[in-house]
Amino acid sequence: MSAEVLIVEDEAAIAELLAINIRHAGMTVRVAYDAEQARREVDQQLPKLVLLDWMLPGQSGVQLARQWRNDERTRELPIIMLTARAAEDDRVAGLDAGADDYLTKPFSTKELMARVRAVLRRRAPETLDKPIDAAGILLDPATRRVTSKGLEIKLSPTEFKLLHFLMAHPERVHKRTQVLDRVWGDHVFIEERTVDVHVKRLREALRHAGVESVVETVRGAGYRFNAKAPESTTATQVPAAH
Ligand code: CA
Repeated sequence: MSAEVLIVEDEAAIAELLAINIRHAGMTVRVAYDAEQARREVDQQLPKLVLLDWMLPGQSGVQLARQWRNDERTRELPIIMLTARAAEDDRVAGLDAGADDYLTKPFSTKELMARVRAVLRRRAPETLDKPIDAAGILLDPATRRVTSKGLEIKLSPTEFKLLHFLMAHPERVHKRTQVLDRVWGDHVFIEERTVDVHVKRLREALRHAGVESVVETVRGAGYRFNAKAPESTTATQVPAAH
């Protein structure tokens, strides 16, 4: 797993314990100690998942979750709420605020990691090492290999990440800013046309295997992986002499 997790927790000892366990699972960690800092961290770079403590100094975790849910950029940010509150009303309030899951303190690290994996599987499958087989393309994150009909498609690390993200979220249209956030982890300092450049390179690599039509441009909207795209019949043929 190569996901990046943001821990929002004001108690340093708990934050540290969470960080150790997340890192142990091969993920990277950032820590914020209040809502203000958490907002800055997310503005800077979108994490794959947020572990969000309910009781924070100043603005509460629930208010912060609600705010993120109302912002287009962070609407789908996976959030697991952490709290000492076990009352049913609180649990409901946390889920109502848009949390994907809910963990009541004290919890075992085993349970924590099981929930982290479950939320990532559902919301950010591109962070997992599970091979994806779609539209005649087999992508294996563990070996970083992409093949089509047994032939290897050579991709740079960025094109590999881009294809992995698109294949993990098929049939959905992704705006350029979303692609920057989710593939590059940055939506501010990288220009949107960078996405176009890499999509073009990705298509060129896919064209050699005759499967470039899987990456579609949706005019005025963004890019989409079309798992039902027809295979091109001309791509691998040598052009006829005139
Ligand atoms: Ca707290």
